[in-house]
Amino acid sequence: MGPGKQGTPVDALVAKRIGLLVADTAQEPSGFGWNPSDLTQEKIEAFQIERFRNALSYVKENSNYYREHLQGIDSDAIRTMEDIKKIPYTTEQDLAGNEWRFQCVKASDVSRAVTIPTTGTRGKQKRLVYTMADQQKAIEFIHAGYLTMECKKGERMLIFMSGNLPGSIGDLVRQAVEPLGMEISVFGAVTDVRAAYERLLEFKPEIVEAIPWHAAALAAYGQQYGNPEKAFIRSVNLSADIVPDMVAERLRRLWGCTVHRHYGSTEMCIFGGVECIHQDGYHLRHSDILYEIPEPDETGQGEIVITTFAHEAMPLIRYKTGDIGRFVDTVCGCGANVRRLEKVWGRDSSMLRVGKEREKDGKSLQDGNAAFFLTELADAVYADDAVMDFDVEIVVDERKSDEKTETDGRLTVTVRTLPGVEADLELIRQEFYEIPGVKHAGDQIDIVWVQETFEAFPAGYNLKKKIGYAEG
Ligand SMILES: [Zn+2]
Repeated sequence: MGPGKQGTPVDALVAKRIGLLVADTAQEPSGFGWNPSDLTQEKIEAFQIERFRNALSYVKENSNYYREHLQGIDSDAIRTMEDIKKIPYTTEQDLAGNEWRFQCVKASDVSRAVTIPTTGTRGKQKRLVYTMADQQKAIEFIHAGYLTMECKKGERMLIFMSGNLPGSIGDLVRQAVEPLGMEISVFGAVTDVRAAYERLLEFKPEIVEAIPWHAAALAAYGQQYGNPEKAFIRSVNLSADIVPDMVAERLRRLWGCTVHRHYGSTEMCIFGGVECIHQDGYHLRHSDILYEIPEPDETGQGEIVITTFAHEAMPLIRYKTGDIGRFVDTVCGCGANVRRLEKVWGRDSSMLRVGKEREKDGKSLQDGNAAFFLTELADAVYADDAVMDFDVEIVVDERKSDEKTETDGRLTVTVRTLPGVEADLELIRQEFYEIPGVKHAGDQIDIVWVQETFEAFPAGYNLKKKIGYAEG
């Protein structure tokens, strides 16, 4: 294996955690002196099965919820992946409002709690808690993620994420990169794009950390000055939401940088995986989390189910993430031999189903119906570099609160540009009708395109892009 074929620092950390590698990966950004083909899926699974078994005993002993939920299940009998498949799922509905029953540690051992809205039911929230050790494990992986981006001493990083509170994303990122000797500035989430852009030009970071929508807007904004930030930005890490291909493409083109996508969630304590420069799937946190796609379709695509077996405060057993993805089992361009996760298509709840005929199961489509992910719509919208932001709303004729994605409603897509700049709606429309789940439905889709001018992101609009629903 030639130079450069070293896998990624994330794989090296996984190898270290499962006992295959003793070198201190934290000190060695490149050339770990190991052969990434030693880290095989077989070795990872043997480790994961053992840890899954331990986690099962642990939650049955320490969590009131799992004691009841997993009653009658003998954790010692878990010996294979097939055995794991027999363990019942945990859902977001199980968790919401029930968190204290999931918690495995004393309140005094909880170092951070995060309350976020659930994706399924409106108005409901879920609360996740972590111990110091849980957060430390995440920080080590975030650190490895930045080593993957070849971050080094003397470089500057500008973080467009909230970082005021201890344990917030910006704060954990700061803790993870400080040992690298970088200069770090936490700007916070972008609301006023002009102010954020001015900070960018002033700080001149080599590395930018942002949510996809904010980074896309900043690059679009810079076009009026000829994108001078291209001179210093070397690499961008995008996280906290789905990353449309066209956003990554825009950044590579307008900023001349490399783009790394990150996959994670509050349930995982932020870090789940990150792409290497070859962009052939997220390199996953296999030593702390079991990732499954237990019910794949014929293409291998299906819902991602996670077990956070390394967590102390609130390990989740076979938790249904709602995220749709697919595994990649080929050898990555970086030399890694491990199972990776292909681009995440977003949540099942971020699938839009529109059209004139409605199927009862909401999935199989008749002529005239279209089904596509929000990320696919975003790819169409961001094909035009002038677009700063967009929104999508479905006006439903007949509201079904539990199945709000199943609709025969009208779609309104609002694209936003700077004052005085026209969006190329023709191009966007063309791209939209190229989406595989849209193509066959053609002009039968009831869709309205609206153009608005863009001043700022609304306050509180920080993270996930959502589909709006309105009653018609
Ligand atoms: Zn790779």
